Amino acid sequence: MSSAVVNTADAAGVPLMLTELRLPTMKRLWADLAEQSNREGWPAERFLGVLLGHEMAERETRRLARARADSQLPPGKSLAQFDFSAVATISKAHVIALAEADGWLVQGQNLLAFGPPGVGKTHLLAGIGHALIDRGHKVLFMRTSELVQRLQAARRDLRLPAELAKLDRFDLLILDDLSYARRDQAETSVLFELIAERYERKSIAITANAPFSAWDEVFPDKAMTVAAVDRLVHHATILEMNVDSYRRRAALPARRQRSETKTKTQ
Ligand code: ADP
Ligand code: MG
Repeated sequence: MSSAVVNTADAAGVPLMLTELRLPTMKRLWADLAEQSNREGWPAERFLGVLLGHEMAERETRRLARARADSQLPPGKSLAQFDFSAVATISKAHVIALAEADGWLVQGQNLLAFGPPGVGKTHLLAGIGHALIDRGHKVLFMRTSELVQRLQAARRDLRLPAELAKLDRFDLLILDDLSYARRDQAETSVLFELIAERYERKSIAITANAPFSAWDEVFPDKAMTVAAVDRLVHHATILEMNVDSYRRRAALPARRQRSETKTKTQ
């Protein structure tokens, strides 16, 4: 569409121009707002300001929705839904600070959450991820084993650098369940390459059941394990979550209740 065929002074041409300029919100709202503006005698500045304000607000909403979809974060696992009283070993204020201040992301620092299954490691890091998206950061959440497979396939096709560059778009990479990645499952040296590539530049967050000592099972050899751990912990916050399984505790009262109901009905 060439602007030459649009009479820019004619209201009939406005929808076409807004389409061409990719301003869908203004296109939807302009006619009603123009009518209200005429009726109420708004100054032209106010009309233009209100219209542009709507476009900007919706653009931000769309951008957030896209960032959240791109992140693959589990929906609903927000910090608001996280019961901090269940995890005495971590401070809520500390976690909120990580979610609200981006200094650590800017410096490419890491975040490591350790603890047995069911204590809320995935939920907590996902919650921090959601909060960072709200603040305009790009976050990607992946199971570590899935990421290893993806990088491994990229290396086979000689496009590992391109795949690593794609991941570079994200300010924070959350690798869930690092200790479930096994070196026999796929060649995990690609994981080391990722860690080395992001070192001191871009943040990585990790959840793991097993402490560092068991990571020999993950990386191809001892030297690589030491080198990976070294880079991960050099600038890192470590959240130790050695508490009882939240899942198991949450199941207990329900079970008790069920057996009570059973007793009553018997
Ligand atoms: P992990 O990753 O440590 O195995 P998850 O984060 O998957 O544990 O938590 C297991 C389940 O329990 C999830 O449904 C999670 O939302 C819930 N959960 C765990 N800890 C908490 C908590 N402190 N507050 C609220 N929900 C929790
Ligand atoms: Mg988990």
